[in-house]
Order: sequence, then C-alpha cells, then structure tokens
Amino acid sequence: MAQPPPDVREDDCLLEYRHLFCPDLLRDKVAFITGGGSGIGFRIAEIFMRHGCHTVIASRSLPRVSMAARKLAAATGQRCLPLSLDVRAPLAIMAAVEQALKEFGKIDILINCAAGNFLCPASALSSNAFKTVMDIDTLGTFNVSRVLYEKFFHDHGGVIVNITATLGTRGQVLQVHAGSAKAAVDAMTRHLAVEWGPQNIRINSLAPGPISGTEGFRRLACFRSLPMWLCEDVIHLLKLLSIPSQQTSPQPASKLFTGLWKPGLPQTPLSCLLLDLEGGEAGVPG
Ligand code: NAP
Repeated sequence: MAQPPPDVREDDCLLEYRHLFCPDLLRDKVAFITGGGSGIGFRIAEIFMRHGCHTVIASRSLPRVSMAARKLAAATGQRCLPLSLDVRAPLAIMAAVEQALKEFGKIDILINCAAGNFLCPASALSSNAFKTVMDIDTLGTFNVSRVLYEKFFHDHGGVIVNITATLGTRGQVLQVHAGSAKAAVDAMTRHLAVEWGPQNIRINSLAPGPISGTEGFRRLACFRSLPMWLCEDVIHLLKLLSIPSQQTSPQPASKLFTGLWKPGLPQTPLSCLLLDLEGGEAGVPG
C-alpha cells in the first residue's frame, strides 16, 4: 500500500511524492485556494498540482504567494497564479476571481483555507480581536464562496472545501474566537450544501487536527504540552498584560515568561504565546 510522503520543511515542496491517488485525478481542473501561500493551503496546492490541477493561490501578501507559486510550478510543472486579496474585501475578491477566470477560463474547486488565529483568554479578548478572527475566518469564507458562486459556480457547478478545526467540538482554553469562528463555518457549510447542492455545487468542511510544520501548530502546540499549573500562571500573566492602562507598548512576553521555565519543560520559547492583545490585524497568524 502507498505510504504518505516523508515530511519536509514548511512551505517547501515535497522531495518525493508517491501517489496516494490516481496521478491524473485532477488533470486540467483549476483550484482557487485562499491562504495557499503557506502551511496547509500550500500543501493542498502542491498535492492538487501533482495530480494535474492548475491553481490560483491568494492571500494578502503578494510576495508570499508569488514565491510559493514559483516553487509549486517548478516542482509540479503545473500553472500556479499568485494573487493578492484580503478575504474581508469583496471587491478585491471579485477582481481576483475575474483575473483567475481570465487566466484559466474556469474554476472547478474553491478551498477556503485563509484564517487568522492567536492565543488569548476569553476574559482578555477585546471585541475587536474576536471580530478580526470572525471577519477573516467566517465572513471571509462566506465572501469568497459567494463571489465564486455568482461569477462561476451558479452556472457551472463546483466544489467548495472549507478548512475548519476541531477546536470548538469540545471547547479549548484561549481559543474562544477561533473555535467560534470555525464552528460558524461548519454551520455555513451545512446551510450552503442544502441551498446550493441542488445546483451541482458540493460543499464540505475539512477539520484537521494539529498539523506539524505549520504556523498554527507552532502557535498552539507548545501551549498544549504545558502542565495545567503553568497554564494557569500563563493565563494570569496574560490577563495582567491585557490591562490597557498598564500597557504603553506591546509587551515582550518572552521576557516576562522566562522565569517560569523549569527543567524538563519543552524548550519552545514562550514568545510564541505573544498575543496581539489589542486585536490589531498585523501579525495575526493562521
Ligand atoms: P498559515 O500558514 O498561517 O495559513 C493562513 C493563511 O491565511 C496564510 O497564508 C495567510 O497569508 C492567509 N490569510 C490570513 N489572513 C488573511 C486575509 N485576511 N485574507 C487573505 N488571506 C489571509 O496557517 P495554517 O496553520 O497552515 O492554517 C491553515 C488553515 O488550517 C487555517 O484555516 C487554520 O485554521 C486551519 N487549521 C490549521 C491547523 C494546524 O495545526 N496548523 C489545525 C486545524 C485547522 P497572508 O498573511 O499573506 O494573508
């Protein structure tokens, strides 16, 4: 039986790929992948392309998607169009979809993979921070799906896959914003499947567990491995950090946390827990 390919550094193409599926499974299909310049979206683009698909990878940073597109095209021999868009901006999405249709003449598959996330206790989470994640994950998924529906899927059918998460299934500390946003996307998937299914549009959610070598994993995995007593200390410190009157500038959390380390604990720097406590947009990772 075919084995999964060996892993590589993040956002590099696989050194070898032994096909798990028929090699031309997606020959001449076109996939539009938000967040396709990094992490899980990048790997989805690569595997699709290794099965004959052409891709459009879209996110805010044009340099990021452009570099990713060069790597993907070189490794697979398929075409990859990098585009800059913010999934919160319907006009930018429309322009990007039009450009993709001009380039390829069709779009068969939409992968909604773009997302933002960070760790924060609910009690310290500003309304703006919560809204930012809802805007990117939930509204962004709807925005891109609706534009694709209007511009192509309505007349031709298509496939939509929304990348969600298991965070909200049982609940998880420091993740009320991301868990809520992804749960809303799962509900959206069901609603759209019922509404658009009869028009030959298939819609599913895919909720990965923690995936190593991704930005999301780096941010969250170190916390999961901490003992509960330390989690509580960290949460307490995060609460202190979040009081605006005491915060004149973004706090270097790594400095504050250094003293908490004990022998035997994971070496991952706690700076990876550094939060965007003001809920601004810059640096909010997936
Ligand atoms: P990642 O590499 O940070 O991917 C997130 C992508 O979204 C980035 O390419 C980012 O590119 C893009 N993005 C962020 N905000 C955007 C916006 N407003 N408009 C357009 N693009 C935007 O993280 P990842 O860990 O691979 O996560 C990918 C997906 O898998 C996410 O939906 C995440 O929730 C889900 N997931 C991940 C894990 C995991 O273990 N990693 C587990 C479960 C689910 P720009 O910065 O250039 O915009």
